[in-house]
Amino acid sequence: MRNKWSDGVTKGMDRLGELVYRSRLIGSEPKLCVWGGGNTSTKQLEHDLRSRGRIILRVKGSGSDLKAARPQDFSPLDLESVIPAFKRKAMTDEEMVEYLASCLTQTGAPRPSIEALLHAFVPYADIDHTHADAILSVTNNADGRRLARRLFGGELIWVPYVKPGFLLAKLVGTQVRRFPNAKGAILENHGLITWGECSKESYSRTIEMVTRAEEFFKSRARRHKALGGPATRSLAPAAREEFLLKMLPDIRRSLSRRRPVVLTFHANAAILEFVNSRRGAESSQAGPATPDHMLRTKRVPLFIRPPGGDPRRLTAPLLTRQIEAAAQRHLRYYQKFRKAGMEMLDPYPRVILIPGVGMITSGKDRREAGIVAEIYEHSIAVQRSVSLVSRYRSLPLAKAFEVEYWPLELYKLSLSPPEKALARHVAFVTGAAGAIGRAISERLRAEGAHVVVSDMDSKKVGAFVTELNRDGGRPEVLGIVMDVTSEKSVREALRKIVLHFGGIDIVVSNAGVAHISPIDELELKDWEKSMAVNATGHFLVAREALRFMRKQEMGGNIIFITTKNVLSPGKDFGAYSISKSAEAQLCRMVAIENGEFGIRANMVNPDGVFEGSGLWNERVRRDRARSYGIRAGRLEEFYKNRNLLKIRVTAQDVANAVLFLASDQSAKTSGCILTVDGGLKEAFPR
Ligand code: ZN
Repeated sequence: MRNKWSDGVTKGMDRLGELVYRSRLIGSEPKLCVWGGGNTSTKQLEHDLRSRGRIILRVKGSGSDLKAARPQDFSPLDLESVIPAFKRKAMTDEEMVEYLASCLTQTGAPRPSIEALLHAFVPYADIDHTHADAILSVTNNADGRRLARRLFGGELIWVPYVKPGFLLAKLVGTQVRRFPNAKGAILENHGLITWGECSKESYSRTIEMVTRAEEFFKSRARRHKALGGPATRSLAPAAREEFLLKMLPDIRRSLSRRRPVVLTFHANAAILEFVNSRRGAESSQAGPATPDHMLRTKRVPLFIRPPGGDPRRLTAPLLTRQIEAAAQRHLRYYQKFRKAGMEMLDPYPRVILIPGVGMITSGKDRREAGIVAEIYEHSIAVQRSVSLVSRYRSLPLAKAFEVEYWPLELYKLSLSPPEKALARHVAFVTGAAGAIGRAISERLRAEGAHVVVSDMDSKKVGAFVTELNRDGGRPEVLGIVMDVTSEKSVREALRKIVLHFGGIDIVVSNAGVAHISPIDELELKDWEKSMAVNATGHFLVAREALRFMRKQEMGGNIIFITTKNVLSPGKDFGAYSISKSAEAQLCRMVAIENGEFGIRANMVNPDGVFEGSGLWNERVRRDRARSYGIRAGRLEEFYKNRNLLKIRVTAQDVANAVLFLASDQSAKTSGCILTVDGGLKEAFPR
């Protein structure tokens, strides 16, 4: 591993500046620590408001990420106040949190890391704590202690596994004083600590120790087969895709029993080597690479066992049975170790490994499922290295339980803001580049849904996706170029959605065209185009979505954007009114046929939404104005004045109606028309 320290960059920086710099160096190296993991500190003289000098421990606060560290992410603790804790024999987590809070020198500072005491008790200025893959490969090893002695001698102190917190801090603090020549400590089943008199020294020691371990495993790899060699062959990409499309709806349903999840699929060379290997299955069941990982990945993944080792013989019922069995195993583990007042966490696995196929991970959104995958990839790297030397070993069950059901960490998770109405849902909006489609997409996303925006124009789709994802991409938006009139195009779009998110929950069938002409002058091609987009288009989208929704057995929600013309057609608007009526009848059929599967279908009937509308282009406006015998410039005014409330209808109004129908607020409504027209008595549903 390369030492990236640059004296040029740190010139003129104070200790806190150097701490931020080295934290970023460490955080941006995934082989040192994964998202949110690891912590760093420095001790420096600072002056308070009364100009009194104090030694302040600046230690990473919880909830921030090293690679994006900023000075304010480090909690300032008065070292003199923290040190007396070292004399204590014991301290519960709650006491520790309260104690540390009382040592903060700044109001509003982030809560200090759970490992803050450790940073205080080690009498060096700068300290780094990481969960480096190569170090975990040394410690999570049946032969770990001997291997550590061989690689690091007296340079690193071996610390047997203790749950992070007061006792670990006390143990490390005591050992440092016994071995003053050590450069750091290696924590069994947990990670590495290095220290130094300055940032550069501590950081360089981390890199030095990790590199030494890396080199060792590299040299072993030349002579030994990783993970016992392959036992299964990967499916060809096309077969793999078919496999996923067949299985994902069932997997998603199984994993969503507690709360809906989104799935992501991963299959790089390292993952495939692992899932196809002889020893991957056994190794994966030993436990996490470091306690930190467990809160995201759970204790163990589910390693699917196909009949005869052949993934082609896997069926959906077989897969779901194995998922249920994994949940049962979690239940037994929970019952064995539970303490009073505990509640069982979601027992379903977050990581599913399938020989010949790859890895599926779950989360409340794609980002979380992605983090789970990233973490498990590190677990794979560790298990692979260990297999070159010995047998992978992790925490005993009771210790693992202690961490997985750690009240302090669970409390941290409970601090996250409440979920929005459409969180954990995947919504597909057609015709999303137009004004109404845009407003709907934005509204659904603001309520927490993963939105898939589709339209015919690839440039518009691309620009809209970029615009939506600009705010950091939560929840991530997917863009698809699709022609609703093409069976192939619609089918491919739905496949893409399911492969990307693991399923689909909401469809807003919105794409449409308007054509104006009296029936006697209506050309066949214009009639056919109206029917193709406004009738067939909705049919194709609904049909393909229904196929996945019904297989998924998680209900579903289809919203058709129809028109006031369905109930009250306007003169010269034949092709439009008639084709949209077919859409309305389609909605009713979808509602009738799919109610028993918990799938709802409803309509939103807007009228006269002009602003930014693709439907109301120059020609349509002109022709429509002519039909009513008014000037084109007066058209909006005309529409406004004909409704009961005398108001303009906007795309946002339509989006609000869609949100109501897409959410549980309307859980008992299906086959309904919701008008958004300012009140038109001739278009009252009857
Ligand atoms: Zn740690």
